[in-house]
Amino acid sequence: MKKIPLYHLNTGSCNGCDIEFLAVARNQWNDYQFEIVPLEKAKVIVVTGVLSQKSKPLALKALKKTKAKILALGSCANSTGIFAGGYPVTGPLDKYIKPHWYLAGCPPKPELILEAILKLTNQKANFPQPEIPPNFRGRLEYKPELCIRCLNCLRVCPAQAIQAQKTKSGLKLSFYYDRCVFCGLCQESCPTQAIRLTQDYKMIEKSRKKFKTEGLAKFSSRRS
Ligand code: SF4
Ligand code: SF4
Repeated sequence: MKKIPLYHLNTGSCNGCDIEFLAVARNQWNDYQFEIVPLEKAKVIVVTGVLSQKSKPLALKALKKTKAKILALGSCANSTGIFAGGYPVTGPLDKYIKPHWYLAGCPPKPELILEAILKLTNQKANFPQPEIPPNFRGRLEYKPELCIRCLNCLRVCPAQAIQAQKTKSGLKLSFYYDRCVFCGLCQESCPTQAIRLTQDYKMIEKSRKKFKTEGLAKFSSRRS
């Protein structure tokens, strides 16, 4: 089987995404073959991290001259995640270079990383669906009909992943997966179970604007 040449560029991550990527790249659990190669030989460059002031010059120099496909892996590469606004942070990556795919997750599951790499190299993903641990926290489900508009969720979110907008008919809440670190605090703080983190880990998009769940909690539906 021909090996898929990969390059891994850490631009300032906590190593969570790097560990999951390595589980894929080192073929620890799948039948696909990968090899880590020098940048110029790579077909896919996997970028992790916030893009720090220190990593930016070399990272952008490398990415600007490559013809390889770029994968933004995890909340930090997507949006700088929980580190947004930190003094060494100059990202996210797409301020400077647009990746081909974004993967949400903190970190994304290896199965999703594998699927993304296969997509980027035009190969069919052919592996069994993984078993998801019972307490896994994935895509958010929001039920506006249960929401009492207390805004607890927005106050506790450490990643500024929730936005609220008052409209004439209610409160519009938006949850952004490109920022979310899947900590579950919004679910814990919600008094009405209007928010739930599901086991859906398949958050992969070409545009990060699509990483969104939102709904309108109508003023008429429940009293706050
Ligand atoms: S799980 Fe909820 S509280 Fe935690 S980062 Fe995501 S939106 Fe914010
Ligand atoms: S989703 Fe829950 S925590 Fe957030 S505003 Fe609605 S009721 Fe409050």
